[in-house]
Amino acid sequence: MNEAKGTALITGASSGIGTLYADRLARQGYDLILVARNATKLERVAQAIRKATGRQIDTLPADLANPAELLLVEARLANERSITLLVNNAGIGSTARALDADVDTMSAMVSLNVEALMRLTYAVVPAFVARGRGTIVNIASIVAVAPEVLNGVYGGSKAFVLAFSQNLRHELDGTGVGVQVVLPGATATDFWDIAGTPVEHLPGEIVMRADQFVDAALTGLARGEFATIPSLHDESRWAAFEAARQAMAGELSTSTPAARYLAA
Ligand code: NAP
Repeated sequence: MNEAKGTALITGASSGIGTLYADRLARQGYDLILVARNATKLERVAQAIRKATGRQIDTLPADLANPAELLLVEARLANERSITLLVNNAGIGSTARALDADVDTMSAMVSLNVEALMRLTYAVVPAFVARGRGTIVNIASIVAVAPEVLNGVYGGSKAFVLAFSQNLRHELDGTGVGVQVVLPGATATDFWDIAGTPVEHLPGEIVMRADQFVDAALTGLARGEFATIPSLHDESRWAAFEAARQAMAGELSTSTPAARYLAA
């Protein structure tokens, strides 16, 4: 075990953003536990990173949308004391419109993007708080704040990730446990094939390379950011959005309806 950094458990590490997190975190000195369904791909990723870094890389094949398999990952997070970082990255998207979307596919997306992320976080938080140390990185999406862009259930699932992370940051303040939420814009991975629109169909100027995205997200983490949006160039946009939200928050619950709702 690497005492300095500890172990990072990364979900969705068999491809795309998760594989790059695995590579970069191992190079930073973390040992890894890699989770995804495809055991062969996971082992291939693990072997390449072991060879490049000499770190201890375990694989834990699991379908996180399957409650029994999810429980195995929850148990590992709750009980393995070396774990210092959870990267909740596994997720699927959709570009289908509500009238065309298959509701069972939507449910499967909610199971992974919402339910699994929530349960894995709940598994690790007590352990991190007890040790006064740990970091949770939740991969959301820019659709968390722009749900009109893609499928609405996908946008809603990522709005959950953002809101859940905002609450966690608030509740875990002072415990020594850190929370980062990352909002990728379009990133060149297999995600788009699975979502129903190959990435080649998107205008090149809105698509970021996955390695650039992950390096930027890790820079955000090192800067101590809560919300990291690698593709948002004008940082003051998020600050203004957040300031407006927080200013309104104190006015959202009152004993009387607003004047505009009182009968004339
Ligand atoms: P990706 O290349 O398709 O990777 C998705 C990962 O999730 C794979 O490792 C996949 O592995 C794993 N996964 C899928 N279903 C799973 C399940 N039921 N149980 C366990 N693992 C599962 O896509 P990506 O772009 O790297 O996506 C990573 C995250 O970024 C997602 O949360 C996505 O919503 C978010 N994101 C991506 C973009 C983008 O443009 N690419 C934009 C915004 C947000 P297996 O198939 O082996 O299970």
